[in-house]
Amino acid sequence: MVFLLICFKVKFLMCAVLIFLGAKMMDLHTHTQFSDGVGFIYDNVASAEEKSLNMIGISDHIHYFTPKKFNRYVSQIKRIKEESEIVVLAGIEANINENGVDILPDLRKELDYVIASVHLWFDIGYNEVQHYLNLVKIALEDKNVDIIGHFGNIFPYIGAYPTYDDLLEIIQLAEANGKAFEISSRYKVPDLDFIKLCVKHGVKLTFGSDAHSPSDVGKIAWSVKILKKAGGTEEDLLFNDLL
Ligand SMILES: [Zn+2]
Ligand SMILES: [Zn+2]
Repeated sequence: MVFLLICFKVKFLMCAVLIFLGAKMMDLHTHTQFSDGVGFIYDNVASAEEKSLNMIGISDHIHYFTPKKFNRYVSQIKRIKEESEIVVLAGIEANINENGVDILPDLRKELDYVIASVHLWFDIGYNEVQHYLNLVKIALEDKNVDIIGHFGNIFPYIGAYPTYDDLLEIIQLAEANGKAFEISSRYKVPDLDFIKLCVKHGVKLTFGSDAHSPSDVGKIAWSVKILKKAGGTEEDLLFNDLL
């Protein structure tokens, strides 16, 4: 009973913080049993509804799919989309590899959006920052990609950071190609200055919990807070027109 009360209180506080910040709530980065998450698609959607989000996206890791499994994934999301009271989008999290992003146009056309993330390991030093940024540039020029996932989460491990000019080059490429960046509450990236630059250049942003369990869906308070701090509004969010 006490546990239930505490859970309720935490959820209530989370919603209160988000409502206080005045932002429409989206969580476009959630995983399910279709990849390395623990819940079903409808569990993630139910959790989003319970927390009064306006929009949820399912974005399982692409390398877990066979063509048959992919069809099942998309048709389940489409069915739940029709039943749900909030906006449900079909996404995927693709990998940015040395030879490009592992999303094919045939799969892309079945989806509402594609997140492309770097999941490789790096050595230490500024050269590795350049290596990482070059990979991100590949994704920014890929027409099948919509959003860059958890940009820069690897910098603390590389032990070096991009310069202002490096970041400006990335933002300008995103602007030219109409790509968005995720504000990841899981990794607390990108940083405030980068988000300010996105807002200044009209580069769209998204909120993502990177939840791997239904209970973590909607944990986007950090994303909401930092966007507001950067001077951003709902207008700066991708899919704002659907909210
Ligand atoms: Zn990822
Ligand atoms: Zn993820």
